[in-house]
Amino acid sequence: MRGQMMDQPLLISSLLVHAERHHGSREVVSRRCEGDIHRYSYRDLAQRCRQLANALAGLGLDPGDRIGTLAWNGYRHLELYYAGSGSGRVVHTLNPRLHPDQLVWIADDARDRVMFFDLTFLPLIEATAARFATVEHFVLMADRSHMPAGTSIPNLICYEDLIEGASAAYDWPVFDETTASSLCYTSGTTGNPKGVLYQHRSTVLHAYAAALPDAMGLSARDVVLPVVPMFHVNAWGTPYSTVMAGAKLVFPGPALDGRSLHDLFEAEGVTFSAGVPTVWQGLLAHVEEHGLRFSTLRRTVIGGSACPPAMIETFEKSYDVTVLHAWGMTEMSPLGTVCTMKPGAEELPEAERAAIKAKQGRALYGVDMTIVDAEGNELPWDGQAQGDLLVRGPWVLDRYFNRDEDPLRYDAAGRGWFPTGDVATIDADGFMQITDRTKDVIKSGGEWIGSIDLENIAMGHPSVAMAACIAAHHPKWDERPLLVVMKKPGREVTREELLAFYEGKVAKWWVPDDVVFVDAIPLGATGKMQKNKLREAFRDHVLPTV
Ligand code: AMP
Repeated sequence: MRGQMMDQPLLISSLLVHAERHHGSREVVSRRCEGDIHRYSYRDLAQRCRQLANALAGLGLDPGDRIGTLAWNGYRHLELYYAGSGSGRVVHTLNPRLHPDQLVWIADDARDRVMFFDLTFLPLIEATAARFATVEHFVLMADRSHMPAGTSIPNLICYEDLIEGASAAYDWPVFDETTASSLCYTSGTTGNPKGVLYQHRSTVLHAYAAALPDAMGLSARDVVLPVVPMFHVNAWGTPYSTVMAGAKLVFPGPALDGRSLHDLFEAEGVTFSAGVPTVWQGLLAHVEEHGLRFSTLRRTVIGGSACPPAMIETFEKSYDVTVLHAWGMTEMSPLGTVCTMKPGAEELPEAERAAIKAKQGRALYGVDMTIVDAEGNELPWDGQAQGDLLVRGPWVLDRYFNRDEDPLRYDAAGRGWFPTGDVATIDADGFMQITDRTKDVIKSGGEWIGSIDLENIAMGHPSVAMAACIAAHHPKWDERPLLVVMKKPGREVTREELLAFYEGKVAKWWVPDDVVFVDAIPLGATGKMQKNKLREAFRDHVLPTV
């Protein structure tokens, strides 16, 4: 028997329609590349999205066509999200920090027909425009006064002209909720990047889950500033979940340094933010140096790579900001787990609570996960056994865009699981902790050593700005941990002091064999440490024998 409720597909346009009708006067504030602050309401956003949807049709774009974007977090990018997906086209966010060759490769693979870009990227597009094989139109996301006098880009279109010339009369089309909505390429460290093609259904379900109290806990009273870029897994879904909640949205544009972020937090009364640990490091350094406070910020999601416990402690103890340590990946839209406490945690000793907070957290409803050994047998949830982390759910990837291979692993019951490439433990309460990426694992005498644990400890040292732990070749144990350290400016610490710092914190055989100091640790396009580059740099490092 079929249920007898309305059969309404879950479409991204419905989020915008809801925000316009129920939160029409709520603001969207953006720091623009042009340098000023722009503000308007959800009502204005919705109207401009309808105009843009008409303009996209005017450019000859058909349903399913890919729309490339090279842009920071800002209202025009948000308009593209809603007008592009809402009208049945696919918004393809490109990461401008990638090498131009890679950008061209990705746009070709996606078959982008149009490329929208921020003023910042005008030189980049001028240098590469001729190389994009499928792009027919280039649109500069600015008004007429910012259009270049002379440019090598053929038929460059001005975004504001495009909008102005379009009618605001538009009915959002209704189509199957499994229709593709947006496309994001993974920042793979080896081989070519792979595209992950999201759906309307997966995006809306993910937005619901992200807004739940034990996830981001978003409400209409929040003021949300996503620092995580809209080209990094759709800013972790915040452009959807914030609009769903009717919260105020604040976009930082290109200014991601500590001072600019703190100024915006204070000026706009930001209550909630989200970003990778490396960004928060800059912010905390600025706040500390100038003796500042956060007057309105209450919660921040930190994820994308492991958040060092020292950072969680600083946010919570010194600034009264709750850290929501979260884990996910491009293939998961991205949210998988968020670390929020279960009942009874208030009574635990502080050290135990801190140990829980350092974990990546519990699975959201909608994500199932398990850990398995090399033979695919499920491992116990005892917080000790480490295995390959597998996930499945309605916002987890089924297959990559444009690729034939089936990436899933099938269990005895024939159920498909996505192998995350992460190694993790899960404890009896369901808290998952990432110990490593499969390819970063250090195998000493056949036993795994968790590099993230070792990095977290080093990051707790007052003189350490950033630390990476990599496998170095050892004649007897095959691999042993080598700690690579970038010191804080003006601070000193020796190899011996750092090694002694591990005493009593980990088993003796986990303590790194050596420490090397570097001026900088290479970061990838989404702000993660590039350990493959460090392994390459220290390939011939000779470990001390005693
Ligand atoms: P990406 O698809 O570029 O966002 O990368 C996803 C990968 O980032 C995951 O598979 C993890 O290896 C890593 N990652 C994300 N969040 C965390 C976290 N909180 N702790 C440790 N690693 C993380």
